Amino acid sequence: MRLSVIGTGYLGATHAACMAELGFEVLGLDVDPAKIDALSRGELPFHEPGLSELLVKHVQSGRLRFTTSYQEVGDWADVHFVGVGTPQKAGESAADMRYVDAAVTSLAQHITRDALIVGKSTVPVGTATRLAGLIQATRAELELPGEVELAWNPEFLREGFAVKDTLHPDRLVVGVDSEHAEQVLRQVYAAPLAEGAPWISTDFETAELVKVAANAFLATKISFINAFSEITETVGGDITTLADAIGHDPRIGRRFLNAGVGFGGGCLPKDIRALQARVSELGLDRTMAFLNDIDDINLRRRDRVVDLAVQVLNEGAVEAPSTVLPGQKIAVLGVTFKPDSDDVRDSPALDVANRLFTAGADVAVYDPQGNRNAAGRFPRLDYVGSLEAAVTGADLAILLTEWDEFKQMDPAQIAPLMKHRAIIDGRNVLDAKAWTDVGFTHAALGHRFKL
Ligand code: NAD
Repeated sequence: MRLSVIGTGYLGATHAACMAELGFEVLGLDVDPAKIDALSRGELPFHEPGLSELLVKHVQSGRLRFTTSYQEVGDWADVHFVGVGTPQKAGESAADMRYVDAAVTSLAQHITRDALIVGKSTVPVGTATRLAGLIQATRAELELPGEVELAWNPEFLREGFAVKDTLHPDRLVVGVDSEHAEQVLRQVYAAPLAEGAPWISTDFETAELVKVAANAFLATKISFINAFSEITETVGGDITTLADAIGHDPRIGRRFLNAGVGFGGGCLPKDIRALQARVSELGLDRTMAFLNDIDDINLRRRDRVVDLAVQVLNEGAVEAPSTVLPGQKIAVLGVTFKPDSDDVRDSPALDVANRLFTAGADVAVYDPQGNRNAAGRFPRLDYVGSLEAAVTGADLAILLTEWDEFKQMDPAQIAPLMKHRAIIDGRNVLDAKAWTDVGFTHAALGHRFKL
């Protein structure tokens, strides 16, 4: 069976390389010729552990190729996975569906044989039914040969673990409306199925909703613990102990209960907003209204970090940041939305860095992988090539992404480099005592700050 993957970003490039690893011949397509050129040379345009090796291996073996030609994929592949972006529309909450619509329309116009189109992008419920109609209408009008079906197979990979999650998924969800489509997808995923991956075959609407329900739940879990952070920051208490204690209850579980600067990235924030927008369109205005609070709690964490920076640098005084930060040198440690990724889309860390800069601080940013993407968005910040360069001469260091390099920092080595010994732990990963023992002022989210 020959597979195509339409859209070779984080999702698509990973899917393409992993499908080649599973033994399929794969043709990746993107509208960005620079991306296709890089991938064809075996160069991954982003950072994802283990993916570069798979890309090189299968470009060299000839099993994985790339193109910008819809005609080529339409003539060649049996199954077309669609993994193009569904970003938030500018100035609105809803998902921007123009890339999915364009990709599916192009496929419908160029497929010249029997084929299955499989949507993987995260989409508003109702999309697959709409697109199935669009495919049939387009093909009838052009009188093209071959039967083309549609299925929806949402993607659950996590950046940083994308290869493992694709080769060994914790579940496979397929929305289908024929036995044939399900059988084709069972063949594609024969390897993970043989390993025992749960197989959930359902209708289009359920498949679409599973993905957004999962992301809404995860976002809720993070904002839930961060709401409790607002309480412990006010009355005292230890947010990490609280999370550990409730997490022992298997009905709750400890994962995704890490208090910190909150969630970001190219999925959770836009997916909860798109879900609200979609259910409002369906007339269910109140149904997902609680997600407004989830979003607000999340965004307030960024305000809290800036407020803490002001307090730490002004010996406890809380004033408008714009009047108190000029000239202060702040080392920002981490700008990606999570470790082991170079993705800075809707990154809380990068937002905080920019706010500190706007408040007049002299911001030195270091991220093991994210500097380049961050500089593309906020070129005015000072990006440096090492942790040492960032903290040297700084009045304050703020850890905002929990890379191992930052978790393993030795306070005794950092101390002599800084102008003033002050650190804010935006992810609750540092041992407070180790820092205060060598004279640091230490503040952390979810903990009351006292000088
Ligand atoms: P991305 O921006 O990294 O990649 C999207 C790619 O699609 C880009 O390379 C773009 O050039 C290409 N593209 C746009 N229009 C096209 C067209 N008409 N034809 C061909 N290619 C086109 O985005 P991503 O992070 O890979 O996300 C893609 C989808 O997968 C989104 O719906 C997202 O919500 C979902 N998703 C992403 C992840 C993740 O961790 N990144 C996980 C699960 C689901």
